[in-house]
Amino acid sequence: MTALSHDTLWSKLLDALYPPDVACTLCGRETLLGEDRLCNDCRTSLSPSPALVCPAGLDGITAAYRYSGGARNGVRALKYQNQVRLAPYFADAITLPSDWQIDYVVPVPLHPLKKWLRSYNQSDCIAQELCKRYALQQRSDLLQRTRFTRSQTTLNEFERAKNVSRAFVANYNVQGKNILLIDDVTTTHSTLLACTSALRAAGAEKIYTACATAATRGSDRE
Ligand SMILES: [Zn+2]
Repeated sequence: MTALSHDTLWSKLLDALYPPDVACTLCGRETLLGEDRLCNDCRTSLSPSPALVCPAGLDGITAAYRYSGGARNGVRALKYQNQVRLAPYFADAITLPSDWQIDYVVPVPLHPLKKWLRSYNQSDCIAQELCKRYALQQRSDLLQRTRFTRSQTTLNEFERAKNVSRAFVANYNVQGKNILLIDDVTTTHSTLLACTSALRAAGAEKIYTACATAATRGSDRE
């Protein structure tokens, strides 16, 4: 038997306690995890999405988590820190109502410049995972963002709607098709509604939306 050095033994013991490939899914910390692969802090800070009132113009809206605590950290990591590994986590948390008959799944597009800077669209990553699970067809090329809009985070509801109005166009006709829009976070739904206008103009029949998280106006900081 090969003799193990003290350092090797120590690192093997640490690996057994905190396996290096097992870090909390949401915050990435290597600490004791539950069967859900979350640390205690992240798990206790997760809340289901607040009840969403479907706005006029949409045919349905759902979200997985409230945009706070571990879910907020996770969405921000997915969006700003290249943590695309979080897309399956959020996609798995979304449950689509069984009466939604969906022809195409369409992620809210980023402006091409922002997409180029980020190299990926986080909503596109979530949509891919959701499509795999529900065997749905994704059409990421259907919507296009034509205006580079400023970040919505500091704007009120009216300013948000104005900021994104006419920011999207549909690239082809979807007459009679039912669309599921995917976004990472929704607050006032202004972005979803701006996408909806473009989809209606292209002939869409029903438009549903599913988001990883939903923020409550005034209380969940974006
Ligand atoms: Zn964590």
